[in-house]
Amino acid sequence: MADNHRKPHAIIIPYPLQGHVNPSVHLAIKLASRGFAVTFINTQSIHHHTVKALDQKPDGDGDGNGSYDIFANVHRSGLDIRYTTVSDGLPVGFDRSLNHDQFMASLLHVFSAHVEEIVGNIVATPGEGADFLIADTFFVWPSKVAEKFGLLYVSFWTEPALVFTLYYHMDLLRINGHFACQDCREDPIDYIPGVPPLQPKDMTSYLQESDTSSTCHQIIFNGFQDVKAADFILCNTVQELEPGTVAALQEQKPFYSIGPVFPEGFTRSDVATSLWPESDCSQWLDTKPPGSVLYVSFGSYAHLSRPDLEEIAHGLLLSKVDFVWVLRTDIVSSEDTDPLPDGFEQELGDRAIIIPWCSQNAVLSHPAIGGFLTHCGWNSILESIWSGVPMLCFPLLTDQFTNRKLVVSDWKIGLNLSDRNKTTREEVANKISQLMSQDSGSKFKNAVDALKTKLEEALMPDGSSTKDLDQFIVDIKDRIHQKGHLSNDA
Ligand code: UDP
Repeated sequence: MADNHRKPHAIIIPYPLQGHVNPSVHLAIKLASRGFAVTFINTQSIHHHTVKALDQKPDGDGDGNGSYDIFANVHRSGLDIRYTTVSDGLPVGFDRSLNHDQFMASLLHVFSAHVEEIVGNIVATPGEGADFLIADTFFVWPSKVAEKFGLLYVSFWTEPALVFTLYYHMDLLRINGHFACQDCREDPIDYIPGVPPLQPKDMTSYLQESDTSSTCHQIIFNGFQDVKAADFILCNTVQELEPGTVAALQEQKPFYSIGPVFPEGFTRSDVATSLWPESDCSQWLDTKPPGSVLYVSFGSYAHLSRPDLEEIAHGLLLSKVDFVWVLRTDIVSSEDTDPLPDGFEQELGDRAIIIPWCSQNAVLSHPAIGGFLTHCGWNSILESIWSGVPMLCFPLLTDQFTNRKLVVSDWKIGLNLSDRNKTTREEVANKISQLMSQDSGSKFKNAVDALKTKLEEALMPDGSSTKDLDQFIVDIKDRIHQKGHLSNDA
């Protein structure tokens, strides 16, 4: 039953991967800071990993339902964020990294049943109710769940607008023979509204595959069918980064660029989100000259092949540059947890530090960091720009190829490691030198500093992202009033 005197209430459900949970948590805080009540729903698996990383004890029954509330610190500042968990359909102890296809199949086929149950319970709680559902665009069910419970559907897209529009216009790519064909065209794609001609190699990995029967393809097809029914789309981008693409999308949907969505203090978050324990390398970094250290990370999720890992390791050695390498224990596979070449760490001495996970924002914003060898995850790119750190790009899958194009060709804030599928140690060493050298690297540093200013301006009170968020808040409150859920003073 609608209660006309309560605050507008959002239910937020992030995709259960690190790069989606992080911005969703900070979106929840932004909305709560603007007077919304928020219920944030993590999967039990994400919750379990977060709590384990924090070294907090779950309730001991092993089902991941530990009662720890990741938002406990923000409650102290008076924000109304309620926290709960839901099953993704698989046991908490299941190795999702090793069994990626099964994990994705569960999100495709099973997760929505659990979501329906929990959303139904929230909506039916006396005195509670809810007005809108904010769910990741990759979910295949939000518009149906929202409709069933009389909620508005706000789709949250955590990748660049360029990637959104490529998926949104998949039918055009098909009709024109650039996608889902045996011998796809190799000439530039010049018919996506607002997008300058784009090489097929710059599309996401899924759009470059000829076999489109995978679970991930089904997720993309269904998710982008479902988003057509979204009432609003929030995108973790900045209008000034992708003006043409954003303008064209705004002609088709209520599309708001509200990025970069970061923790308030950037390096210090009131909410713990890391899925692995963070190692602190700040003391080691303090001993290094400004701009001298390369940060190396391939994100939370992608795997490197063993040959690539070996070439990168040898290339790092050859480069003579100091580095911090975040090497997840499952970087090759959770069944191959010691993939570095024999004697590698001994040869490095004090030149490098290798850790399984870190607070990336803290590392990137340390003055010693002068470059980032990255897989081009979208959060990593935004965080690197915010820290004024140019990039060396080694995309591995999904949106990372398109993101590289933005970094290397459009913004010129970094360079590409390799045009071939495989890289060599000489190429790695050579590109690291180009990025880190005072002479050849200064153009990238100047360009990234200029872009950093644009991001900072976007978040100022009259900046584009602040205005878009303001507009979204006005628009969604209007829609909620139209539905008769709120009084005019809410
Ligand atoms: N990250 C982190 N510590 C690390 C590596 C990554 O905190 O050691 C964070 C990083 O700051 C980013 C997220 O994990 O917010 C990774 O998201 P991204 O989109 O860059 O890549 P994905 O993991 O989704 O491929």
